[in-house]
Amino acid sequence: MSSSSNFSWSVNRTPKLFKVDLDGNLYCHHEIVAILRIAGPKSVRHGDQFYGCPQWPLSDCKFFMWKHDFDNFFEAHSFKL
Ligand SMILES: [Zn+2]
Repeated sequence: MSSSSNFSWSVNRTPKLFKVDLDGNLYCHHEIVAILRIAGPKSVRHGDQFYGCPQWPLSDCKFFMWKHDFDNFFEAHSFKL
């Protein structure tokens, strides 16, 4: 957990911190790269992509972020690679 390429951003809209590396990988609260999933039919956003904990459902750390929101955040900060 000492890679210098990792850093944290705080998001003003929520009290949560999330972590992204310079390759654009998003990390869950386990500090593992989050994986992209597709919202199921029970979701109000069925079919939308979101990032979630890769260890779900075995050891879910409750990490969750819509891909759309993440992309918007990336663009808002001009953090294009
Ligand atoms: Zn996790």
